Amino acid sequence: MKISHLEKDKKTGRVSFLIEESSPMFVNVLRRIMISEVPTMAIEDVEIRKNNSILYDEMLAHRLGLIPLKTDLKTYDMTSECKCNGEGCAKCTLKLTMKVTARSDQVITAEELKSKDPKVVPVHDEMPVVKLLKGQNIELEATARLGKGKEHMKWSPGHVFYKYMPVVEIIRQPKDAEEFARVCPQKIFDAKNGKLVVNKDKLMNCHLCGACVDLDPGAIKLNESNADFVFYIEPWGQLTVKQMVSEAFDIFDKKLDEFAEKVEKA
Ligand SMILES: [Zn+2]
Repeated sequence: MKISHLEKDKKTGRVSFLIEESSPMFVNVLRRIMISEVPTMAIEDVEIRKNNSILYDEMLAHRLGLIPLKTDLKTYDMTSECKCNGEGCAKCTLKLTMKVTARSDQVITAEELKSKDPKVVPVHDEMPVVKLLKGQNIELEATARLGKGKEHMKWSPGHVFYKYMPVVEIIRQPKDAEEFARVCPQKIFDAKNGKLVVNKDKLMNCHLCGACVDLDPGAIKLNESNADFVFYIEPWGQLTVKQMVSEAFDIFDKKLDEFAEKVEKA
């Protein structure tokens, strides 16, 4: 298997890789572990002391739960695996508080959520939580803990997906190469001196729409590779891409060890 880095989108933080000589099973295992087993921090319990905003307590708590929190995996343990036997202690939970009174009509954002741990804070301070009218107030204490995406998507560290590498073959030269270059929505063809060629740099943009095949049946053969994949990781911000990948491999390793142990005992 060969893995190479393709690009990083500065706006979304999305990173793409080319994984070659692998299998659909392997890349899908990586994807599933990343989105559903790599833990992150999120608010799970909220004790609301005051809330006379337009939102019900339940809605407010729900919105707080969906705020991505920067996650420190070294300091915290999963509550279920913690020495406190799931009761919640400083090693597995974190308190955050919010106490605001609106001086004028205003939008309360995640910035007002004060964390006891400077390493675990909202990823986006500007995320709106609730609108308050002048004089309305909110006072609450929230408890965040580590969790996994398979329990609730709020704990998922990002969006991970892949596509099969497109394989485009020119079987015979078409009469009008320029028409082919024009009809492809992803512009993967170039017409060089009337000759149709595949632009290797843009090949990965191909989404196998088949517009070229329809234009002149038999001229182009479109296929998807069963061994090469373009793999995308778009983090929500709780963890970096590097943390997501290394954590996923650790989890995968552990699963394989457990499996090997069970096979030995069988
Ligand atoms: Zn604990």
